[in-house]
Amino acid sequence: MNMRFYRKLPMPIDIKAEFPVSEDLAAIKAARDEEIARVFRGESDKFLLIIGPCSADNREAVLDYIGRLRRVQDRVADKVLIIPRIYTNKPRTTGDGYKGMLHQPNPDERPDMLKGIVAIRELHLSALRDYAFTCADEMLYPENHRYLSDLLSYVAVGARSTENQQHRLTASGLNIPVGMKNPTGGDISVMMNAITAAQHKHTFIYRGWEVESQGNPYAHAIMRGYQDATGKTIPNYHYEDLIRLHERYEASGLLNPAVIVDTNHANSGKQYLEQMRIARDILYSRRQHTELHKMVKGLMIESYIEDGAQKIGNHVYGQSITDPCLGWEKTEALIEEIADKLG
Ligand code: PEP
Ligand code: MN
Repeated sequence: MNMRFYRKLPMPIDIKAEFPVSEDLAAIKAARDEEIARVFRGESDKFLLIIGPCSADNREAVLDYIGRLRRVQDRVADKVLIIPRIYTNKPRTTGDGYKGMLHQPNPDERPDMLKGIVAIRELHLSALRDYAFTCADEMLYPENHRYLSDLLSYVAVGARSTENQQHRLTASGLNIPVGMKNPTGGDISVMMNAITAAQHKHTFIYRGWEVESQGNPYAHAIMRGYQDATGKTIPNYHYEDLIRLHERYEASGLLNPAVIVDTNHANSGKQYLEQMRIARDILYSRRQHTELHKMVKGLMIESYIEDGAQKIGNHVYGQSITDPCLGWEKTEALIEEIADKLG
């Protein structure tokens, strides 16, 4: 093999023992997981906002941001359920560039996976301990899920991973909602097949074990827009897209038909300010049709402290170093507007 086995890393069980979740914190997670599951089962009308920076690049800024979310969450708690995005590993279009806190706990320094594992666990743990939030992360590397499995309340499988067998099978063994993003090329069948695979039981190899998964009834769709064969960005958040998705669900026999609509990525064409208009548009569509009202469970919004994005090394506090995000003032106003519009 053309790689060096540099050092053996700790097992998830060791890292969990070193940075444990106390009983009190585990109870907060259990209560949040149940509240979120009630939304997917259609027993709660709360609207989910999976919201936060594209990448959790800086511990201090991310926790500052999550503290702000906590204050808004408490104001809109009767209508909106916030699940902060703490995205600690980033898929890159060409594989190059910043791969997230897991790889580079300090974006200015070279990768250090041991420090990275500790950094992402401590960050998710702090969000729970300091702000009573269990958060969302992308499951980019299914084998790594267990480093955070006692902390996460939501997992997304990214657009570049939805067609991958190991992601689908691992998702089938999780007991939290897993959102399957439509692939970058936009084929909705790939996403529906991923949801089907994740809802079913499987026997497979995971971390050197033969495992049997139980199937995940909360596996669902995330619509994030796509690119056509010429590279042009095409949104899929419109009323007609959502109606078509509803029809696909009707024909599928899947459990708990649900979609989270991603307002950034190929839905905004990364024109991040468009996220506000797109969020309003989706809420409007949802009001036009009872089935959409039931199926659209929430939004995924890319938001941070400062508007936009910067290059690595610029060091603007709270500004994204990956996809451009909505800044805090606009975010706060948008969350309150969403809560009002939910009526
Ligand atoms: C993201 O959510 O930041 C992301 C990388 O999304 P996608 O997989 O849709 O490109
Ligand atoms: Mn992003």
